[in-house]
Amino acid sequence: MSEIRHNWTQEEILEIYNKPLMELLYEAATIHRLHHDPNTVQVSTLLSIKTGGCPEDCGYCPQAARYHTDIEGNDLMTVPHVKAQALRAKAAGSSRVCMGAAWRNVKDGPEFDQVLEMVRTINKLEMEVCCTLGMITENQAQRLAEAGLYAYNHNLDTSEEYYKEVISTRGFEDRLETIDNVRKTNVTVCSGGIIGMGEKVEDRAGMLVALSTLSPQPESVPINALVAVEGTPMAEEKPVEIWDMIRMVATTRIVMPQTQVRLSAGRTQMSREGQAMCFFAGANSIFAGDKLLTTPNPDVNEDMEMFKMLGLNAQKPFVKKAQPESVDAEKSQYKPLGEKPKWTRPGHSIERNELAKEQGKTAKIV
Ligand code: SF4
Repeated sequence: MSEIRHNWTQEEILEIYNKPLMELLYEAATIHRLHHDPNTVQVSTLLSIKTGGCPEDCGYCPQAARYHTDIEGNDLMTVPHVKAQALRAKAAGSSRVCMGAAWRNVKDGPEFDQVLEMVRTINKLEMEVCCTLGMITENQAQRLAEAGLYAYNHNLDTSEEYYKEVISTRGFEDRLETIDNVRKTNVTVCSGGIIGMGEKVEDRAGMLVALSTLSPQPESVPINALVAVEGTPMAEEKPVEIWDMIRMVATTRIVMPQTQVRLSAGRTQMSREGQAMCFFAGANSIFAGDKLLTTPNPDVNEDMEMFKMLGLNAQKPFVKKAQPESVDAEKSQYKPLGEKPKWTRPGHSIERNELAKEQGKTAKIV
């Protein structure tokens, strides 16, 4: 039961997902206790360091420039601004800051240098630093590692089969390549996905096959419930049922026993009872703060009240892995290579994404 397997099949995962709920919960909770303290939950703060204007067409994302949403875009935050936000997050009980930039991929240059400085600054505050910046090369991953990055987030989002119904501007293999580049460094991998995008249960299982067969398995797996935002192609998708979220968390826990399973987007739609069942089923991480990049999230005080009520403790930083050292920019071994990697652009069209783009154009004219 405590063995880590890298050969899960879609059929096996579906069988777990569809078990009678009480059996599924019992199995997941038992595995959870073998690998983790069930009363400790890691708290991360997600900070959008560069919002909106993204060239990609992810069907769920209000930051894609082509859709018409109410997101206010901003340029890359300054290092002092990020430092102030990180200190606030630390005071509120977060052990990790995850910085997100709405980029297709990282480009060497002043903006990336600024991000590296943010990484050094937060690492020196004794917090775990995570970045989610889009696709990165091995050299860029090495530069982030050298700056003291603890984790890199790059979600697979869904199954390989359903991916082409969600995004047309890059391929599933690009995601895997970035994860592979991160794995060549000592930075940990955070990769998960979103449910409620119109996918089948088979796709949820397919995504868990893709994640669990990575070796090593990702250290963190965020499970998001779609937050349907007006103006995006997925605006009309129905909210995810709490039972689906609980089943997804429990199944993730069973197939990836050691990973930190994170309750991510969609928590505002979940009751405390629902969240408590997710913690029982093996979730042991949350995103805190009133915004998740651009979508609403419970207030941090509400989360701390919930922790108190459930007898949960916030995990201290660096308990799973030692704090990385930060090498100063002048002493860096890795120089920018100015690479122009050929990330794929499958270019097929997704009807609902095209429709949302057209509606966006009309809305802008009006
Ligand atoms: S999810 Fe990321 S890559 Fe996709 S459109 Fe949004 S910001 Fe861009």
